[in-house]
Amino acid sequence: MNNRELIDLLNREHQLDAAQWTQLFATYTEEDLEYAMALARGITVQRFGRKIYFRGIVEFSNICKNDCYYCGIRCSNRKVSRYRLTEEDILKCCAEGYENGFRTFVLQGGEDGWFTDERMCSIIRVIKARYPDCAVTLSLGERSRASYQAMYDAGADRYLLRHETADAEHYAKLHPAVQTLESRMQCLNDLKEIGYQTGCGIMVGSPGQTPETLAKDMVFMQAFKPHMVGIGPFLPHQDTPFKDESAGSVQTTLFALALCRIMLPQVLLPSTTALGTAEDSGRKAGVLAGCNVIMPNLSPMEVREKYMLYDNKAGTNISAAQGIAILRRQMEEIGYEVVVGRGDFGKENRK
Ligand code: SAH
Repeated sequence: MNNRELIDLLNREHQLDAAQWTQLFATYTEEDLEYAMALARGITVQRFGRKIYFRGIVEFSNICKNDCYYCGIRCSNRKVSRYRLTEEDILKCCAEGYENGFRTFVLQGGEDGWFTDERMCSIIRVIKARYPDCAVTLSLGERSRASYQAMYDAGADRYLLRHETADAEHYAKLHPAVQTLESRMQCLNDLKEIGYQTGCGIMVGSPGQTPETLAKDMVFMQAFKPHMVGIGPFLPHQDTPFKDESAGSVQTTLFALALCRIMLPQVLLPSTTALGTAEDSGRKAGVLAGCNVIMPNLSPMEVREKYMLYDNKAGTNISAAQGIAILRRQMEEIGYEVVVGRGDFGKENRK
């Protein structure tokens, strides 16, 4: 089957086998990319309209016990000045987000032991009490099932934990031996079983990635059926072991996003900051490839340059309000509208 036939097959059956996925990633052309993007965009518009959900990210701690080789805030990076936001700081970010129409707050941070279940649950409860019409999304890495359960019971709605790669050998090239794919997958299964709207995802072009490992990612995702998928290009950070590696391809990122939309028509798919960093128009291109979520940064100006996962991260030198205005305008430029609403999986999708 040629690539176009494979994309049509995916559109009918919502799954392919590993060999078919490998073929797509290994041999896709510019025309195949355009075909997949147009199809994905049509599916998105039909389901969601030309509507984009904004989720505000609050990067509440850059302290991390992990040492992921790709990440700028890994524990071995002694050049980072470390910070933790207080509950009050976090609430201020939420207030600014709420005024701007955000109805989802994403609390993202390193794996920082200071944020015990008790502390996290308290923050979640305060946010949910103050903003009962808002969703709280967590993105704070691997924790025990009991911890995930406690935070869910405190009111958290969603959890983002990228699997990074579904290939164990590749996973081992990206992380020290104490971090395993098995443990990551256990976390993802726990999150979904507990009832979180759960997000997984990958970096495109991470060192060691091949069409075969990408195929494994797609095969994993078509079985796992995540509610959200985060996909951005890998971008090197100067103070990591991967500083000399090349950045992931924007084209392949767009192709992976489009295929994800075709595979999982209902999925909530952010056009990521990494994509916007790789190219000025990256986030617009992501929407044109089937994305329907943008996650503007709500973190206080003072901490932004300390939360550098990769070099030159977009939006670091501008305020939350400026960042929001730019993203809003970018969406308008391509005929999309930012909407106010939680944007839950499977709920508000259909005009
Ligand atoms: N500590 C949390 C959240 C922070 S990292 C966690 O581990 O889930 C969020 C995501 O940023 C990671 O999952 C990774 O896929 C992405 N990321 C980290 N470093 C990156 C880099 N150098 N280039 C592109 N994406 C990166």
